[in-house]
Order: sequence, then C-alpha cells, then structure tokens
Amino acid sequence: MATYAYRCPDCGTFDQSRPMGEAPECVACPRCAASSPRQWTPPLLARMNPALRTALAREEASRDAPEVVTRASGTTRR
Ligand SMILES: [Zn+2]
Repeated sequence: MATYAYRCPDCGTFDQSRPMGEAPECVACPRCAASSPRQWTPPLLARMNPALRTALAREEASRDAPEVVTRASGTTRR
C-alpha cells in the first residue's frame, strides 16, 4: 500500500492509502464527497536517478562508517 495526497477544494488536503500504482486522479472527499484531485508529492527514492541515489547513500554512510583503504590497489597481500 502507498499513501497518496489529495486536495478537496473546500476541506483541504487528505491522504488515502491505496495499492501502489492504483491511485485515481480524483477521489471523493471523505468529509463532503466533493471531487478532489490528486496532489503532487516528492518522488519516491526508488524513482531517483540511480547514480544520485548511490552517491547520497555513500555520503550518508561515510558519516558513521567511512570506507577505509587498508592497502594500495593493484598489489597483492603477502
Ligand atoms: Zn471536502
């Protein structure tokens, strides 16, 4: 289930949980039953550019668990 935001022209915004990808463009307001269009919400992380998502994850991880180089690359351990 995913939460989608809608805006009633009289009552304001409200959320509705629906199966992912099955959100209609308009739903009835739970208070006054007026037709309420779906609102724009920030995109899910899964839809983010993969390179950007990887970079952000690496940046976040570096705060607590930085990647540490233990030996020079291209050499074998003896
Ligand atoms: Zn309403």
